[in-house]
Amino acid sequence: VASHRAAVGLGSNLGDRRSHIDAALSAIARLGRLVAVSSIYETAPVGGPEQGPYLNAVAVIDTDLAPIALLTCLRHVEQQQGRERRERWGPRTLDLDVLLYGHETVAMQGLTVPHPRMGERRFVLEPLVEAWPDAELPDGTAVGSLLDAVSDQDVVRHEPPPTFP
Ligand code: ADP
Ligand code: MG
Repeated sequence: VASHRAAVGLGSNLGDRRSHIDAALSAIARLGRLVAVSSIYETAPVGGPEQGPYLNAVAVIDTDLAPIALLTCLRHVEQQQGRERRERWGPRTLDLDVLLYGHETVAMQGLTVPHPRMGERRFVLEPLVEAWPDAELPDGTAVGSLLDAVSDQDVVRHEPPPTFP
């Protein structure tokens, strides 16, 4: 089975945010070989109802899982951290998104890769570029060039996450 380099976006703005992020990183590390983890960023919510600030991070893994299998595993991790789905873009204990999967484009019901809204979100792009500086979209566009184009959104870099073996 061929291995693919994938980027996973993590977000939390309910409960003990840092512990949800740490638990997710440990779980993601078991879905493949962990290549890099960004710092943890505190970010203002973008869209959705009024809600508290998020912690965001990005993990990069080399995985043998197909995209849909990866998403299924991430859903389980969200549920283990008490995720409840009420309203879209509402507050959540843990949100895990497949941002990139190699240079592949995925257009299935329930899974679109690259993640359709990542190009407008500084809270995704900043940690992604930190963890995977030469990441590219399927068409070869450097993800770093998207960062220059996003409008100002409050993003504060926090401490780096714990290191994993
Ligand atoms: P959001 O992540 O947009 O804040 P949710 O986590 O509630 O909102 O996800 C909404 C839907 O997005 C899910 O039902 C999921 O199937 C779908 N989805 C589509 N593409 C992706 C992707 N690349 N990663 C994660 N979820 C995705
Ligand atoms: Mg999501």
